[in-house]
Amino acid sequence: MPNFKKLMENGIFSKTCVTDFPSVTYPTQCSIITGTYTGDYRRELCHGVPAYHWLGRYISPPFLRNYGAPGSDEFIQIYKMNTDLGENCQTLLEMIGEGNHASITQFISRGTDYIYPESKVKLGLYYEFLQYAMRNRKRAKGLMALANSIVVRKLIDNFKRPKKYFKSNEPPIGSNLWFMTSDVIMHLFGYDSYLYKLNLMHIDKVMGILINELDEMGYLKDTAIAITADHGNYKAKSIGNILPFYSRTGLTNYHPKKNITGNVNIAEFGGVGMFNFKGSNNTGNDAYWARPSIKELEKYGPKKLNMFEELFKIKGTSLMYFREDGNTYKKGTIHLKRKDEKSGKILSGTIEYKGIGKEFKTKYASEDNENDVFGFLKDDKANKLLNGNFYSIDEWLDATHHLDHALYPDLIPRHFKNPRSSDIIISTKGSIVYNVTHGKPQNGHIFTHDIGLQESTILPLIIAGSPDIPQKEISYCKSTDITPTLINLLGKKPHDSVIGKSLLQ
Ligand SMILES: [Zn+2]
Repeated sequence: MPNFKKLMENGIFSKTCVTDFPSVTYPTQCSIITGTYTGDYRRELCHGVPAYHWLGRYISPPFLRNYGAPGSDEFIQIYKMNTDLGENCQTLLEMIGEGNHASITQFISRGTDYIYPESKVKLGLYYEFLQYAMRNRKRAKGLMALANSIVVRKLIDNFKRPKKYFKSNEPPIGSNLWFMTSDVIMHLFGYDSYLYKLNLMHIDKVMGILINELDEMGYLKDTAIAITADHGNYKAKSIGNILPFYSRTGLTNYHPKKNITGNVNIAEFGGVGMFNFKGSNNTGNDAYWARPSIKELEKYGPKKLNMFEELFKIKGTSLMYFREDGNTYKKGTIHLKRKDEKSGKILSGTIEYKGIGKEFKTKYASEDNENDVFGFLKDDKANKLLNGNFYSIDEWLDATHHLDHALYPDLIPRHFKNPRSSDIIISTKGSIVYNVTHGKPQNGHIFTHDIGLQESTILPLIIAGSPDIPQKEISYCKSTDITPTLINLLGKKPHDSVIGKSLLQ
């Protein structure tokens, strides 16, 4: 990839940029673009998108959010992400402010003057079409080249003929591009496939065309190009079947239209499963889902079963996270459990959190002095932080960036603070994937990317272009550092919600 290599050698780069939890397209892209994480978006400065699929349980009847579209009660919901982000954060393009902005095949488009494809419906259909049409391996190669070329060609035309796209005849000052082909090809054919590698090389090629054109037009010397990924990937050993879970527990899948009496919603479950349960403490309206207490979940459903035990019976399940009762956005405790594959013994731990925004700190503890849920005690650097004290995100980054579940003591409680998050989260650590969306099995893909292992959560990052950008390798950083770095290069101040730090400092 000669063009990426050239950028890497002439700018800032990092081989270890830690993404958000879960390492899934839309929540991670929201964090990259806003420079902040999720949380209680109603009360604190953060964004409101906790997952790809979630249950809107504070509305009657609760609704199913699915940014992917089919399988939910609405065809296209991707464009709702711009509202779901909430008012307590800003996108990169909103932070840039004055000037023209372009958003090419990118759904998170707040603050944009020009969006391609031009309408919400077209944009949704574009993504759906790519996913569908690329299933044919023969057709995939041509489509991938076309889709990659369009992204760059549109932007070049934005620079060449701004009047055609914007109100003023000025080229865009900030642009957000997404090459979605690599994700589609990875799920369909695998990250180890010839087609996947060919696609990355093609993205390099079209980026080379963009860089040349920018240079010829005289814009390159004033341009910073940030290149990253939203998540990594892994290959599961097998596909699991979720249906025995329903028959064993007697629980039924909730659907706002078909089965309003359902009591469980598995919002999403690849290798990471997010389970919502209908609590009994409802406020007058039967369709409203209060959060069940821990006690209630210990004797839940028609068979009065302990859900913390039942969820561990789902084949491959090795990790579990859930809230303590009475958590608030200012403080609380998350319970962690890990099942030992051989002995079946369950190891417990906790994450306590306090503070909001830049003051947010967490304390990670294990019941066992030798072993802990995320395996940090075995690492000489990370084990120093399991000492009863609270630490900030950058302290966790320093201690865990090289480990599986990097940053999890910080990211997991942020996720649980969002009222749109589920009650119990489990993980198979990638051994088995279930591919369930809102309770229903979807496809047979074994290539995916939601778990906490390094291969799924560590990204490459390059920021280069203008000769003004210093040449340096950053040993580790986090995906929320990208937006404040770009804002810093423009000589501006990031929004107050931004948790990331400029890599120039
Ligand atoms: Zn994906």
